[in-house]
Amino acid sequence: MDCLFCKIIAGEIPSTKVYEDETVYAFKDISPMAKVHVLIIPKQHIDSMNDINSENSAVVAHIFEVAAELAKKLEIDKTGYRVVSNCGKDAGQTVFHLHFHLLGGEEMNPRMA
Ligand code: 5GP
Ligand code: ZN
Repeated sequence: MDCLFCKIIAGEIPSTKVYEDETVYAFKDISPMAKVHVLIIPKQHIDSMNDINSENSAVVAHIFEVAAELAKKLEIDKTGYRVVSNCGKDAGQTVFHLHFHLLGGEEMNPRMA
């Protein structure tokens, strides 16, 4: 499959890894929108939020456990952070491999849209 994030998981495209286990990979965003900006992705290819279902939602739950762990490791758990997944055109999704942005390290715009 011609998917940028599948290639990053496979090591075909370099990335700055911050976490990896059997089902999840996390790496620094190439174009950070905050001082801390990490992308957390399932190793299994899922296009977007639209494709989360009872068969694959365990990995999504696990991603949120990883997000909480990474927030502590990156020392943004006390100051606060945001976890975002853009789905589709109106949200500005550009990579169609499900991913969760972990953003923090500075105050962010409270407006969500
Ligand atoms: P989206 O806009 O789909 O929610 O988020 C895609 C994110 O992937 C963007 O924040 C973008 O900066 C990031 N990104 C795109 N290409 C690469 C890449 O090759 N490496 C890394 N580390 N991040 C990327
Ligand atoms: Zn993929």
